[in-house]
Amino acid sequence: MKVIKNTLQMQKIALKHLKDGDEIGLVPTMGALHEGHISLIAKSVKNDDITIVSIFVNPTQFGPNEDYLKYPRPSEKDKGICKKNHVDYVFMPLVNDVFPSDYKTFVEVKTLQDILCGAFRPNHFRGVATVVAKLFNISCADRAYFGMKDFQQLKIVEKMAKDLNFRTKIVPCSIARERNGLALSSRNSYLSVDEKKMSMNISRILREAAKDFRCRNFNSVKKDAVDKFKKIPGSKIDYAEIVNFDDLSPADKNTKKAVFTVAIWIGKTRLIDNVVMIKSRRRVRK
Ligand code: AMP
Repeated sequence: MKVIKNTLQMQKIALKHLKDGDEIGLVPTMGALHEGHISLIAKSVKNDDITIVSIFVNPTQFGPNEDYLKYPRPSEKDKGICKKNHVDYVFMPLVNDVFPSDYKTFVEVKTLQDILCGAFRPNHFRGVATVVAKLFNISCADRAYFGMKDFQQLKIVEKMAKDLNFRTKIVPCSIARERNGLALSSRNSYLSVDEKKMSMNISRILREAAKDFRCRNFNSVKKDAVDKFKKIPGSKIDYAEIVNFDDLSPADKNTKKAVFTVAIWIGKTRLIDNVVMIKSRRRVRK
């Protein structure tokens, strides 16, 4: 496994692999790797000749009052995890290599970037789309692996790749969870023991809602779930929305495949989670 810190060097290596006919997989991350990231890496190692894991805490996707400085950066541990999981290249560029002081170009995915998380984190998805576009170009990836945990991010990256004619295929990967249901996240390390116990209610409530969605009106399913979220001690809801799976537009009574997506603060930690909901063929009870 090689650790590459320079963007031009990474691109040169990737181009050489491309020329040699290797298929390249990219797993973009911000590090503090956990089993969720490892599940993405495992898919790439299985599908691709070469796996590149990028580790980059991207300043352009953090707001001024967010956790950019305190975001965990256990780089030695991350390198060990990558090595153990058969990664070929860990790409860890410096901020001013990716975004030099004269940097000017940004990618925006209109509408999709402004809803849900985007309504609470202005410029977040502009930062995400921009860095992902750059990583696609640097890595020459045939496939890039994204977790469904960040469902809106996944949809934005899919749309960007389609609109900008990237040759990189986006591979969605299911959410890795703790045994109690809590979605794995680098930010879970901010939670106290008690907060962690409270946090696992989020996935339980989502699971129950998905079950109810099969045969109940989606508005009442949402209302019940929101009532339950509000009862989690220390919780504050940024949003809890049922949206269409394909384009994140608001779900309605005709929606067959939806995603119930939430952002909920537990104390000072903002957690996101979601569940895919599929309507059963049976008649909907009013
Ligand atoms: P991050 O390091 O948080 O930017 O995440 C890097 C990639 O890992 C993104 O595509 C995330 O969606 C994905 N990811 C993070 N947590 C999980 C999880 N619990 N299960 C599956 N994928 C995840």
